[in-house]
Amino acid sequence: MSATPQPAAPAERPTDDGARALVSMRGVSKHFATKVAWPRPQGASPLARLRRAFTRKSALVRAVDDVSLDVFPGETLGLVGESGCGKSTLGRTLVRLLDPSAGQLVFDGRDITDLSQAALRPLRRQMQMIFQDPYASLNPRMTVGQAISEALEIHGLAVGERPGKVAALLERVGLRGDAAGRYPHEFSGGQRQRVGIARVLAVEPRFVVCDEPVSALDVSIQAQIVNLLQDLQAAEGLTYLFISHDLEIVRHVSDRVAVMYLGRVVELAAAEALYRQPRHPYTQALLSAIPQPNPAARRQRVILEGDVPSPLTPPSGCPFHPRCPVADKPRSCFTQLPVLQPTPTGGAVACHVAE
Ligand code: SF4
Repeated sequence: MSATPQPAAPAERPTDDGARALVSMRGVSKHFATKVAWPRPQGASPLARLRRAFTRKSALVRAVDDVSLDVFPGETLGLVGESGCGKSTLGRTLVRLLDPSAGQLVFDGRDITDLSQAALRPLRRQMQMIFQDPYASLNPRMTVGQAISEALEIHGLAVGERPGKVAALLERVGLRGDAAGRYPHEFSGGQRQRVGIARVLAVEPRFVVCDEPVSALDVSIQAQIVNLLQDLQAAEGLTYLFISHDLEIVRHVSDRVAVMYLGRVVELAAAEALYRQPRHPYTQALLSAIPQPNPAARRQRVILEGDVPSPLTPPSGCPFHPRCPVADKPRSCFTQLPVLQPTPTGGAVACHVAE
């Protein structure tokens, strides 16, 4: 895939008050080296075939490719796309749980791209993650009180103050204070996610990446956790990157939405504008799949042909062209990588056809 840099993401947002972005990424990529099988040799000697059968060649997985985004204080930026499009890798790179392969990361005006882990430590508590599976991030041998105390210890809170703070945090997320003495397996999935949120809140973060925080929960519980996250955002002034494949939830929580395809952002817009008038053919296809109870509001369903191409061998030109319903019109779709261009409604779209 071409390395043509994408222009800076547009700064517009629904209630732009001139605030500086809390988190910025410019031209950020995250590539993983891997080993893959050689292509089947044609006419090679038996020995060469045997050798290839037992060796692998190096390849690069372009999980995130040249992404530029801003997240503004107090907003929720939704990040959507099919499974495997690079959403989670982008979120982890943004908080430096993964080191970027290229590009620049800025947090609160400070370039954190190359900060050592030691230099990052004071900033770590300001940038937190909520995971899809809180059970995996909780030590099963620790009570939830101990797990939250551990986070408070990092924050430097005196030992004597911790039990009271733990009880307050549990109540803050809708659990009884006496839950502190129980173990993670004694809680339901929704309760465990509340514990995970309490643990994140304990370090008083400013920016939280919510990585599919409700996708493992029942629908009725999903709404409760989403409401909790929104309440906490309003009360604590939190800034969220909300990653989900559930377009309805993203619409509900987001101020702006970025759409990812094969490691790249292909559309970025205010949530209301994006859902009302999606511009990128991929966004249009995603939104057309949302069930609409009102027949008058139904969009014509756009069926995408084929699977998402491998990030090991992304297509030339526009990465979406093998599945794009309108790709055959301009030849440039097959040869030129579209970059994000501003739209009249203050968003941006990476498509040779969309305006
Ligand atoms: Fe489709 Fe071409 Fe636009 Fe890519 S650039 S989304 S292939 S129309």
